[in-house]
Amino acid sequence: MGRIVYVNGDYVDEAEARVSIFDRGFLMADGVYEVTSVLDGKILDYPGHAARLARSLSELDMTPPVSDDELLAIFREMVERNKLVDGMIYLQVTRGNPGDRDFAFPDPEKVSPTLILFTQSKPGLADSPAAKSGLKVISVPEMRWNRRDIKTTQLLYPSMAKMMAKKAGVDDAWLVEDGMVTEGTSNNAYIVKDGAIITRNLSNDILHGITRAAVLRFAREAQMKVEERSFSIDEAQAADEAFITSASSFVTPVIEIDGTAVGTGKPGPVAGRLREIYLEESRKTAI
Ligand code: PMP
Repeated sequence: MGRIVYVNGDYVDEAEARVSIFDRGFLMADGVYEVTSVLDGKILDYPGHAARLARSLSELDMTPPVSDDELLAIFREMVERNKLVDGMIYLQVTRGNPGDRDFAFPDPEKVSPTLILFTQSKPGLADSPAAKSGLKVISVPEMRWNRRDIKTTQLLYPSMAKMMAKKAGVDDAWLVEDGMVTEGTSNNAYIVKDGAIITRNLSNDILHGITRAAVLRFAREAQMKVEERSFSIDEAQAADEAFITSASSFVTPVIEIDGTAVGTGKPGPVAGRLREIYLEESRKTAI
């Protein structure tokens, strides 16, 4: 038996899980998702992920398939049934199966959304080697659509950018639009200069990271200076430190951008401290 996955109200073996080929998630990437981390069997930042899911659904006129409380119960059941200690819960909601292919949205009274969840076990998630070694990134042109604030399953360009990074022998790519970094392929991007933490301001240009919100809150509480504004690759290469955040990588240092070492070329103290604070604080509120 493999993992137990969730499909529209049922907990089934992964080999038995079925979604229609007419599902709009499959045909049109008409779906949204969330990735939530689990440490020591507890879910990190659930309210943040539930709120962002609600917003993504609302921006796309999609009906939430279950309430927040029901969803939390499903998350817990997934952790329990899969004996998940450290890892992630992946959740996806699509506009469902209208029974045929059509560009127009189906009537939500007639077609209900598809809700699926699965777990990914990552023993030692909080002690990833990348946190110690740091990541190398390249810059690539931003070519995604303009509603990056909605967490949709249209991930082809981020996947292509990841492949460009892989081909270049590095770990990830930062996307650049009008000379300024938007974010990483699957994470928010930051630099540190003279003690100030600099990251792009929220808009439709970037995903509103749940980890970003938490890290900036903790940084401000720790009296660190935070500047929410755009920065260029040149400014990032001349910074003291760089790092990324995401729900599954927490805070991870970036040590090289387009072949140029950032700061000392080693993970910096600000990223290290923020990672520590983030892990400590989010473990406290994990449920
Ligand atoms: N930006 C993008 C494009 C992402 O895919 C992600 C990860 N889902 C993030 C930022 C980070 O968001 P979060 O901290 O909520 O995982």
